[in-house]
Amino acid sequence: MTIAFEHDAIRAQFPTLAQQLDESPLCYLDTAATSQKPQSVIDAINHYYQFDNANVHRAAHQLSARATKHYETVREQVKSFINSAKAEEIIFTHGTTESINMVAYGISQQISANDIILVDSAAHHANIVPWQELAKRTGATIKPIPLNDNLSIDHCAFEQLLTLSPKLVALSHVTNALGTVNDVATLVQKAKSAGAITLVDGAQAIAHFDIDVQQIDCDFYVFSGHKMYGPTGVGILYGRFAQLDQLVPMLTGGEMIKTVSFTGTTFGSLPNKLEAGTPAISAVIGLGAAISFINSLPKAQVRQHEQSLLEYLQQQLTQLGDITLYGANANNTGAVAFNLANEHHQDVGILLDQQGIAVRCGHHCAMPLMELLAIKGCCRASIGVYNSKQDIDQFIAALVNVKALLL
Ligand code: PLP
Repeated sequence: MTIAFEHDAIRAQFPTLAQQLDESPLCYLDTAATSQKPQSVIDAINHYYQFDNANVHRAAHQLSARATKHYETVREQVKSFINSAKAEEIIFTHGTTESINMVAYGISQQISANDIILVDSAAHHANIVPWQELAKRTGATIKPIPLNDNLSIDHCAFEQLLTLSPKLVALSHVTNALGTVNDVATLVQKAKSAGAITLVDGAQAIAHFDIDVQQIDCDFYVFSGHKMYGPTGVGILYGRFAQLDQLVPMLTGGEMIKTVSFTGTTFGSLPNKLEAGTPAISAVIGLGAAISFINSLPKAQVRQHEQSLLEYLQQQLTQLGDITLYGANANNTGAVAFNLANEHHQDVGILLDQQGIAVRCGHHCAMPLMELLAIKGCCRASIGVYNSKQDIDQFIAALVNVKALLL
């Protein structure tokens, strides 16, 4: 069945967007930081608290049975959404940051002082700092993977680094600062041939691409619910079963055990082993609604819509003049990074905000990339399915005013 692409109807599902900021309509161009939520996600969370609120996996009563069923149904939904082989390979975490930390902590015993860990130079700090901490604990060495002129991973330099037989390779699927897309399936295949364990940070890819973890063939794939029209407080750690099962749990306590005694405790099996304590049940339920929302959209048309908006955004910024774009090309997804002449990015952001425009300004949790670009920070406009050409026009008109004021 073909689903029609009715943009106005899609946008109307997002109540946050129907507001004025001061005198101007809200123009939300900060989806890469967090996406807005459709009414169905808000309703699913409300419904859980209003009718089904109970802890999961524990009590014998009906409410708990309902909550548990819903929670486990979402695990199945995530499994299908990213095409993992088993539901047990899906671990609910609190976000991408926690997912990566769980891998970096859990893998410690497999890493020794002579090991090398390759990390994408353009990665978010969440995909850098946990590896640095792992290196501190184990004595392993971190090597940044160089970028090419497009600011995506340089495949030749990567192949060179693979001759060092790294133990682990950490990649970004799409970078948050610039929206650069890496060909992760090819990079993973190369890393695998060199015998490395692979982790792909999909935080910025999950809302824009169809993700198939079996096709990418990585050992770990991680993302956050709040960047894919779902709530904050829930993330996913996907792991290939054999790799996931070897992780030492970062958190221990209730829910994750098989038996506990003062003579020794045994852990349960996946996925429970890696989900200690009461999970973010309402957020998981909201994530399920977000997946249903994405699945209700005509994916090819959404992709086309988002790509043409991004292209228009890049074009309009270029035409404006006095703008430096960073790593902008036709292959990028979701975001455009820029500076206005020599003006401070925060000043530009504040003046845009006064005209109802929400963009992110700063180092975008990618300080090594900013260093490479020889800048302290920049502005980033990022888009979601709800954005329209009108948003871009409102943004550019506001930027014309900022330019007149500052230059
Ligand atoms: N990785 C990337 C590429 C991101 O964009 C982000 C958030 O901006 C993160 C990791 C961290 O995600 P979270 O803050 O949801 O844990």
